[in-house]
Amino acid sequence: MKIIESKDLVCRKIELLKKQNQTIGFVPTMGALHKGHYELLKQAKNENKVVVCSIFVNPTQFNNPEDLKKYPRDLQKDFDYIADVCDLVFVPSVEEMYPENPTDSYDFGYLDTVMEAAFRPGHFNGVAMVVRRLFEIVKPDNTYFGKKDYQQALIVKELIKQMKVPIRMVMVDTVRESDGLAFSSRNSLLSSDKRKQAPFIYQTMQKVQTLMNNMKPQEIEGWIQDQFKEQKDFDLEYATIVQADNLQPIHDFATHTQAVLCVAAYLDNIRLIDNLELNKI
Ligand code: AMP
Repeated sequence: MKIIESKDLVCRKIELLKKQNQTIGFVPTMGALHKGHYELLKQAKNENKVVVCSIFVNPTQFNNPEDLKKYPRDLQKDFDYIADVCDLVFVPSVEEMYPENPTDSYDFGYLDTVMEAAFRPGHFNGVAMVVRRLFEIVKPDNTYFGKKDYQQALIVKELIKQMKVPIRMVMVDTVRESDGLAFSSRNSLLSSDKRKQAPFIYQTMQKVQTLMNNMKPQEIEGWIQDQFKEQKDFDLEYATIVQADNLQPIHDFATHTQAVLCVAAYLDNIRLIDNLELNKI
């Protein structure tokens, strides 16, 4: 696995690979890699000749400076972890990615007004800043994003459309710990006591599947809020049931093909998000 810090060098490598007609699969990450990231890389490996991973804690997508400061980082551990599924890892510095103060601004319409966008102003503009630059450097045929960050994946799909580039976007299922908690780099910030409580999010989400037969989406959202109110260590930011392809609200399960439940909650000041595609059972 090659480790490269310079974008010019990555560009040159990619040009060479393209000349050899190699397909390129790309997985952008912020590091502190775990099984979720590994799954994305594995899928990329299955579908492409060459797998590129980027590790870059992107400052422009953090609306909270404290969150950026405490974001976990361990590059050597990351390199060792992905060496068997990745061919090239791009680890730029902030100066390399943003030689000048970035000012680009994006319009993702409704997608950039709800849920994460409402609670983290400017977050997706920052995501688009870095993903656009990464796509221009890596020029992948296929790129892999997790459903764990469902809204982000839809925003990136829209970015690809707006950039008019021939990149195929693959959304990969959320990978979970054995107790149901979605793998996240932020999980390592939880104390062992709080870590034991964290699966409550997924457990509550799973119960919704059985409620769908008898309750309307808005009633279920109220029910989730009540569940969280009983947990003193959790602070629920939102629990919303939306249409899978455009995040518009759902008023009646019967009239929509696919619904997604999206939840964001603080546990001991650590912000956790999770999503679940809902299927009636
Ligand atoms: P991050 O490093 O948190 O920016 O995530 C990089 C990519 O990994 C994003 O596309 C995430 O959606 C994806 N990802 C993070 N956690 C998981 C997970 N538990 N399962 C699947 N994909 C994930």
